[in-house]
Amino acid sequence: MTVMSAFGTFAKSKARGFRRARCPGCRLWTELCLCPDYAPLESRLRVSIVMPSTEANSSSNTARLLGLWLRGTEIYVRGGSQGPSYTSERMPALDAESALLFPLEHSPADAALGGEADGRCVDSAAFGEHKFRHLIVPDGTWAQARRLARRELLPLGLPRLTLHPAWPSIYGLRRKPQGVCTFEAVAIALALSGELELARQLLARFALWNQRQTAIKQGGEEPSLAWPAPPPHPALALLER
Ligand SMILES: [Zn+2]
Repeated sequence: MTVMSAFGTFAKSKARGFRRARCPGCRLWTELCLCPDYAPLESRLRVSIVMPSTEANSSSNTARLLGLWLRGTEIYVRGGSQGPSYTSERMPALDAESALLFPLEHSPADAALGGEADGRCVDSAAFGEHKFRHLIVPDGTWAQARRLARRELLPLGLPRLTLHPAWPSIYGLRRKPQGVCTFEAVAIALALSGELELARQLLARFALWNQRQTAIKQGGEEPSLAWPAPPPHPALALLER
């Protein structure tokens, strides 16, 4: 692809994105909106997302989808103005069943097992050991989420749940993707804590949203409701082993 044609694609997708009305919930074009088709799902866990205000209105943000599709999800926006769909509190209330989900570093066990040749994902033993019922998840770009975790969440002394970096992601809407996005991380954590069927449904919705949002962003052929459903999320094959 030449520089000129790359620029042309970018300019076209930008213009197209601005021209079309988007659903305030899923942020897809209104004609592609997934909201009426998918009611919120029940979980035995509560999820609290802590995000910077720059994420609150980003169409590529995936934590918002958890707010739509997972009952018991609260979104805490740090700094700046908050939208009507977010809680007015600044930080989640913690209890003995709260745990921090963030890949700051891996446990010695993970590091020792991470190089397995068959690519099997190994997760922190914490998933089995802790009877957590409340996940605290920092969101944003990796730099923002890391800063949030280090400055505000780690000092709280919560048990930490860490996903191995080998977990596969289909999310490619950000310039520097690193590992799974927030939505995928929460879905995988739910599956690992015993809610596999819930994770299956969440990841199927996510794959569909991701297919449409990616097509909107990239330009080219317009996504339509007639498109075949995307393949199952690759994390499911690992979770179902
Ligand atoms: Zn929608």
